[in-house]
Amino acid sequence: MLAVTVAPARAAHASAQAAASKAVDASTPVAVASDREESGFWALSADGSVRSFVGEHSVGDARRGPLSSPTVSMAAAAKGYWILEADGQVHGFGGAEPRGSTFAHEAMQPAVEITADQAGTGYWVVTRAGAVSAYGTAVNHGSLRTASLGDPVIGMAATPDGRGYWVATADGTVTPYGDAGRFRAVRRSPADGRLVAIEASRPGRGYWLLFADRRVVPVGHAPGLHSVSSLTGPPAVSCAPTSSGRGLWVLLATGRIVSYGDAPEVVAAVPEASGYSLAGRVITLDPGHNGRNWEDPNYINHLVNAGGFLKACNTTGTATDVGFPESEFNFDVAVDLAADLRRQGAWVVMTRTSNDGVGPCINQRAAIANGAESDAALSIHADGAPAWGHGFSVDVPEPDPGYNDGIITDSLAFGRDVVDAVAGAGVMSISNYTGTDGIVPRDDLGGLNLSHVPIALIECGNMRNAGDAALQASPSFRARLAAALDKAITTFVVHP
Ligand code: ZN
Repeated sequence: MLAVTVAPARAAHASAQAAASKAVDASTPVAVASDREESGFWALSADGSVRSFVGEHSVGDARRGPLSSPTVSMAAAAKGYWILEADGQVHGFGGAEPRGSTFAHEAMQPAVEITADQAGTGYWVVTRAGAVSAYGTAVNHGSLRTASLGDPVIGMAATPDGRGYWVATADGTVTPYGDAGRFRAVRRSPADGRLVAIEASRPGRGYWLLFADRRVVPVGHAPGLHSVSSLTGPPAVSCAPTSSGRGLWVLLATGRIVSYGDAPEVVAAVPEASGYSLAGRVITLDPGHNGRNWEDPNYINHLVNAGGFLKACNTTGTATDVGFPESEFNFDVAVDLAADLRRQGAWVVMTRTSNDGVGPCINQRAAIANGAESDAALSIHADGAPAWGHGFSVDVPEPDPGYNDGIITDSLAFGRDVVDAVAGAGVMSISNYTGTDGIVPRDDLGGLNLSHVPIALIECGNMRNAGDAALQASPSFRARLAAALDKAITTFVVHP
């Protein structure tokens, strides 16, 4: 297949851009837009950086001056492109002139997408509540304007003649305006069926819907698009059509580009923005147990494959003598750690997103980390050992042939990075009751046996030990622990 050349980054401006982007706390890739003059596209990150995938045709970068909010969308103009900030500000590059914006209209925030009209001399801006504003040669055909809707508006697409458009919400609902056709509804997928983008098709009247689980669904007379990509892995966030209209480039949350239909394959990913050392990396955090596991023993005790043998789906975990549950401690540390990782640009997957549920089972937790193609997975636990024992230890997988082949060496290296970071920062001492230098190889844990990605499991101290329990109850200890774990993950992923 063809490979699109990636234009070199504008390195000379990098430090000034980094300073300017400090106010924006995200480097997440957010949007792609097709060039009108050449076959290719641009990719935008939330910090305003733009990378050209249009040969040598690089026209600019939004990080010239301070941004007041994250950039959320971009659209190709007749020449160059426009970039939209969440606060409604529109910036033009490469000859594109801003024609107006929703900025300073508080009721018109946040803006979610900018869509160009047919001529590329005007555009629409749509807000999360569904309000549409038209600028330049674009014509307003109506707004959804329904803040009462449960699902936010994710974007819009204009018909090829520009006399109408569709407004789409995250649940997959599409509302037509002007001459846009009304088509059948599309069912959400049971896995991750959030709609993330809508793109009008030119060969046939209709549109494609892009879901977070990477499904591209043709609607109306839009052609079906074949993809060689599997439907697992990082979620999709945006798409841009090829010049023939018979293909799409799909941007994933990690910055990878996946090609559909006749879109040439793109080897390079959207690169990390400067200062975001984990941009494009996927980290799965697995806070052990769950806060309501004790309420459903039948479910929690049912047997699942733990890597060649059966084991209970999950357990309730332990607690300190004063009743601080392990599940809550694990979850608190994971939330702190996720925030630290996201500040560095990582895509963080959590095996559970609250502490008031049941499960998931150990095999499902492993499947989540595997499915996300994680660069590393960290299970977070605390131990319930005899009261005299104290300190942390790190469990790493022993070989379970046919299951965890290929991750043993990396997992041990990751485990050692965790030990070095936590002990090195003086956050907690290494266990005095288990392991060798803090490392405990295990062959009996389903999460370690079933992993296809480098994984370690930290027991963050002994909840039955008075000294460890006092630390575990302290929010500042949990924050320092999270910072040390962040350092360990960064060390392993970036400097293996
Ligand atoms: Zn545990």
